[in-house]
Amino acid sequence: MNSAAFKHRPESEDAYLVDADHLQIRFHAAKDDLQSVELIYGDPYWTIPNASGETTFAYSHVPMVKISTGETHDHWEVTIGGPYRREQYLFAVMDQDGNREVFGDRGLRADTEENRLTMTNYFRIPYFHVIDMVQTPEWVKDTVWYQIFPERFANGDRSNDPAGTKPWRPEDHPGREDFYGGDLQGVLNHLDDLQELGVNGLYFCPVFTASSNHKYDTIDYLAIDPAFGDKALFAHLVTEAHRRGMKVMLDAVFNHMGYESMQWQDVLRNGAQSRFADWFHIHEFPLTPFRDPIKGEGEPQFDTFGFEPHMPKLNTANPEVQAYLLEVATYWIREFDIDAWRLDVANEVDHHFWKQFYTAVTAVKPDFYVLGEVWHSSQSWLNGDEFSGVMNYAYTQLVMDHFLTGEQSAGQMLARLADQLMLYRDQTNQVMLNMLDSHDTARILTLAGDNFDLALQTLAFVFVQTGAPCIYYGTEMGMDGANDPDDRRPMDWSQLGGLQWQRVAALIHMRRSHARILGRGATHFELTATGLIRVRRGSSHGIEAYFNTTKTAVKVDATALLEQGFTASELQPNGFVIAEY
Ligand code: CA
Repeated sequence: MNSAAFKHRPESEDAYLVDADHLQIRFHAAKDDLQSVELIYGDPYWTIPNASGETTFAYSHVPMVKISTGETHDHWEVTIGGPYRREQYLFAVMDQDGNREVFGDRGLRADTEENRLTMTNYFRIPYFHVIDMVQTPEWVKDTVWYQIFPERFANGDRSNDPAGTKPWRPEDHPGREDFYGGDLQGVLNHLDDLQELGVNGLYFCPVFTASSNHKYDTIDYLAIDPAFGDKALFAHLVTEAHRRGMKVMLDAVFNHMGYESMQWQDVLRNGAQSRFADWFHIHEFPLTPFRDPIKGEGEPQFDTFGFEPHMPKLNTANPEVQAYLLEVATYWIREFDIDAWRLDVANEVDHHFWKQFYTAVTAVKPDFYVLGEVWHSSQSWLNGDEFSGVMNYAYTQLVMDHFLTGEQSAGQMLARLADQLMLYRDQTNQVMLNMLDSHDTARILTLAGDNFDLALQTLAFVFVQTGAPCIYYGTEMGMDGANDPDDRRPMDWSQLGGLQWQRVAALIHMRRSHARILGRGATHFELTATGLIRVRRGSSHGIEAYFNTTKTAVKVDATALLEQGFTASELQPNGFVIAEY
């Protein structure tokens, strides 16, 4: 028995409430090490007299299910009730040779009745506190997101075009500083098109006043950039989106401010005497010229995003900064009824601030969605009091590393995906944002070598995963593009309603019409004997999908699919089929 590999931590993603009365428990052991795991559990105060008349702990037991296998571990899981909202538990394990042990809070013991009754070796969930339960917005589980880069989506108002605006040519390769005149009126004009496409969540890159075309260098968090429109137009846009059943998510950059912001300009003018001097992480005055350590100029005088002197990092430990940013965060909810914030560079801002942030925004709107930009393991932010979910690059990158680059085999990908799903509670996995590309990456079609079938197959795989899928604007138009700024070309509206648009729309329709199953529950993967990837969602009925990522046609042997009228006998390379069972 490889007990060194045993992993479990109470009050974490390994033991958590799925609802007010049910506890989900996970246990991890070395791959193939154990033939069974049983959960021994009960109310810690529930005792009964034994044969000698002494009172002893009355426990129940239930088998755990091996739900998946990761790279190095098998993952075991079970859900139990707690009639008195308390539970204590330990794991009775049996290895392949029939050796039996109990694994508990104070270690490993022989599996004897005496050890099962040793109260001090039990893991505890002392009380089922609903207020501590991780709750994620139900509506996100029904959402297909659509990411809009406002400067490049559509130009609906020539009168607000920045000086030097270039003609709207989707075949252009935009330069870093180019402007094309896209704006909020352009989005408003195309809301019906987006509704027809089927998306029901609009994720806007920043819309607040800033100097650049991408607007990540905020000047004023409380104003709409004049090149995009004004507050009246934004209010109208939110109302019209809501009228169509679409939620609205804005992008906030709270890690750093723009160089042109009033606060930073004041610091540049007044140095240490500025009333905003403590709003930033400043080590030494004067601040200019900025010393870039990468260029060998010495230690920088202040902290920045990366080593970007035009993006000074905010001091979110300063109560004034906290109050200011929380006012910004709640202002757009109170006054404009937005539904979600996407938080830029969220991992570089302190947890203390994010806890205040979460409390503030959910006080205004209880089912508000908070999405952090974190590219790595995010357990520390996802315990129900900071973010609802994160941009799931860690997950989708694994998908791309198999489907698009072949860097890992299907089996390796499935094992690593299984491990990723074990990092978070089910209700968190269900509201992760699963995107294959964004304004920060090359476009999916380019990553797929301009093979639209392959791009769509990869997208389809993401659409049957746990987590809310997100499409980057233009995917439905068959747009390609390398890393930014090439991934930010003006939208190609000439492809609206075309063949590629229709195939993406069909996928969105599939996801939304099965949101009860695809948006909830867990995901089960399997590599079939013939090398197809099979994904199953649901239990007695649900969705089953097959993906051929091999180089040859593969026969599909799936009764469920045949019963659904699936007549093709084989899947071509880059092919997939999704059906109900
Ligand atoms: Ca314009």
